[in-house]
Amino acid sequence: MFDILIIGGGASGVSCAQILGSAYKKAFVADKKIGIVLHQKGSMLQDAVFYNAFGVPSGTLGSDLLSQASEVLRNHYPHVEQIENEKVVRIKPLEVGFEIETNKGIYKSLEIVVAVNSSNSFHIEGLMDYVEPHKKSIASKNRIQLKNIDHLVVPGIYVAGTLAGHRSQLSIAAGSGAAVATDILTAWNNGIETHSHDSIRK
Ligand SMILES: Cc1cc2nc3c(=O)[nH]c(=O)nc-3n(C[C@H](O)[C@H](O)[C@H](O)COP(=O)(O)OP(=O)(O)OC[C@H]3O[C@@H](n4cnc5c(N)ncnc54)[C@H](O)[C@@H]3O)c2cc1C
Repeated sequence: MFDILIIGGGASGVSCAQILGSAYKKAFVADKKIGIVLHQKGSMLQDAVFYNAFGVPSGTLGSDLLSQASEVLRNHYPHVEQIENEKVVRIKPLEVGFEIETNKGIYKSLEIVVAVNSSNSFHIEGLMDYVEPHKKSIASKNRIQLKNIDHLVVPGIYVAGTLAGHRSQLSIAAGSGAAVATDILTAWNNGIETHSHDSIRK
C-alpha cells in the first residue's frame, strides 16, 4: 500500500514527486511510501521548447525534461517508486484508500494525486463524475478539468497541473504539483504547515 501515488509523469506530477521525495529527512515522512506512475507519452512537454520557464535553461526541449525526470528522481530520491510505461484506467475507492488499476497491474494507495493534463481524451473510470469543462481555457479547445477546491477533489484525491484548472504554462503546472506536495506534507505533519528546502546555510 502506497501512502501517496502520483498519476502522470509530466510537469505537475514529477514536480510533486520531487518535493515529496526531497522531504525524506523529516521524521513524519520517514515511513511514507511514495510512488509515481511515470507515463509520459501523452505529455504536453513532448513537443515543447522552453525560453520562458523560470530556472529552465533557454532552448531546453520538453522531451529532454521528460527523459531526465526518471533519472533525476532515481538519483536523488530512489525511495520514490517509479512505475513506468503504465497507464491508469480505473480508480476504485476502498474502505481505506484506493485501488488503482493500470493497463498492466493493480496498486493500492491511501491517497492519490491525478496529474494527467487537461486533454479531453481523459478517461479514468471512477473519476468521470468529477470532470467539467476547463474554466480558464477557450471553449473551442474542449479542455477539461476535475472539480476541485484548491487541488482537493474529495478527501484522498488531489488534482494537479492543467487538469486542476490551471492555464497551460510549465511554471504554473510545476508550481501546482509543488503546492499539492506541500499540502500533503502539511497533512502528514498533523496539519502543521511545512515545506521542503535544501540549503547551503550552515
Ligand atoms: C507544443 C507545446 C508547446 C509549449 N510551450 C510552452 C512554453 O513555451 N512555455 C510554457 O510555459 N509552457 C509551454 N507549454 C505548456 C506546458 O508543456 C504544459 O503547461 C505542461 O506540460 C502541463 O503540465 P501537466 O502536468 O498539466 O501535463 P503534462 O505535462 O502533459 O503531464 C501529464 C502526464 O500524464 C500522463 N498521463 C496521461 N494519461 C494518463 C493515465 N491515464 N495514466 C497515467 N499517466 C497518464 C501523460 O503521459 C503525461 O506525461 C507547451 C505545450 C505544448 C503542447
